[in-house]
Amino acid sequence: MKIGILGAGQLGRMLALSGYSLNHQFGFSGNATNEPAALLGHMFAKKNNSDNIDSLVEFADVITFESENTEVGIVKEINKKIPVYPNEKSLFITQHRGREKALFNQLNIPCAPYQMVSSEADLQAAVETIGLPAILKTATEGYDGKGQFFIHETSQITKAWESINGVESILEGFVNFKRELSLIAVRGIDNSHKYYPLVENTHHQGILRLTIAPAQNIDKKVQEIAQHYMQTLLDEINYVGVLTIELFDTENGLVVNEMAPRVHNSGHWSIEGANTSQFENHIRAITGMPLGDTTPTHLFCAMINIIGQLGDIDAILEMPNAHLHLYDKSERKNRKLGHINMTANSQTELEDSIAKLKDFLP
Ligand code: AMP
Repeated sequence: MKIGILGAGQLGRMLALSGYSLNHQFGFSGNATNEPAALLGHMFAKKNNSDNIDSLVEFADVITFESENTEVGIVKEINKKIPVYPNEKSLFITQHRGREKALFNQLNIPCAPYQMVSSEADLQAAVETIGLPAILKTATEGYDGKGQFFIHETSQITKAWESINGVESILEGFVNFKRELSLIAVRGIDNSHKYYPLVENTHHQGILRLTIAPAQNIDKKVQEIAQHYMQTLLDEINYVGVLTIELFDTENGLVVNEMAPRVHNSGHWSIEGANTSQFENHIRAITGMPLGDTTPTHLFCAMINIIGQLGDIDAILEMPNAHLHLYDKSERKNRKLGHINMTANSQTELEDSIAKLKDFLP
C-alpha cells in the first residue's frame, strides 16, 4: 500500500524503514526537504497552507501521523477521502491533558487527582483542593517536560501561572512514584491486540535517556493490570495502530500519567529487542496486515538516546550487542539525534554494556 505520514521526523523515518520490507511505499508531509524521513519516500514539503497535504492524500491509500499535535481539522478533512489511523477521536483526546484525564476517570483507570485551570484564581482554588506539591501543565502542546511548573508552596502560584503564559492548564497532584514505566500496544483493524512488556524509563530534565526492556521485577499481575487499562482504552476509542501509555509505579499500584497516539521513544528498543518492532506493528495495523509477535528476542534490552551531540559513535559500532540508529539530524542542544539498542542475555551483560556507553548518559 501507499502510506502517507503527516510529519517527516525520526518516527516517520523508522516507520518507513520497517515498512519497505512489507512492500509498502511511503510519502511524507513536512516543513523542509532535509527532515529525517525526507529521503525515504515522496516528500511533500510545505509551500503554502495545505497544498502539500492535498498532494500527500492524492498519493496515499492510508494516512497516519507522527505527532499528537497534528491538527484534528486536517485529519477530519482527509478522512472524508481515505482512512486515517489512529482515528480523529484518538487525536482529539490525546492532544488535551484534560480530555485524556477525563477519559481515564470515565474508564476507572487510576491517574493523579487534577483540576483544569484558566486563570490565576482558578489555580489558587485548585491548589486548595488538590494540595501541594503539585504540577501545573499546559493543557495542550507540552512534551519532554516543557510547559510545566512544579509548585512546592503557595508563594509560587503567581510565578507558576506566569511561567506557562496564562494558557489553559491542568493542575495535577504530585504522584510519589518508585519508577516510571510505559506500556506499548497495538490494535488491528480487525480488533486484534498485541502488547509489549512493560518497560522502565529514566528521564533527565524531562527528556527520556534510558529504557530497560522488559522492566525488571514486574509481577505478572502488574503486567496484566497495565494491559487491562490499555485494552479498555484501545477498545473505547476504537483505536487502530500503536498506542503508548506512560505509568507511575507506586506503593499503591500503577497510576497512569498520559498516553500518546503513536509509536513512542520508549518503544525504540523493540527494533532489535522484540520479534516485531513497534514500527512494523503500527504499519501492519494500519494496512490491515496480521499483527506481529511482540515477544522480546533477549532476556534484556536497553535503549539509550543520543541527545544533543553524536559523541563517540565508533565505540558503539565496536560492541557486538549494540545497534546504532541515527536520524540524519544535525547536532543541537537537547535534540534527539539517534538511539542505541543493546541486547543481553544476563543482567551483568546488560550492566556492562550500559557502563561502556556511560558517556551517552547524563
Ligand atoms: P509528562 O509531560 O506528563 O510526561 O511529565 C514529564 C515528567 O514529569 C514525567 O515523566 C514525570 O517524571 C514528571 N511528572 C509528571 N506528572 C507528574 C505527577 N503528577 N507527579 C509526579 N511527577 C510527575
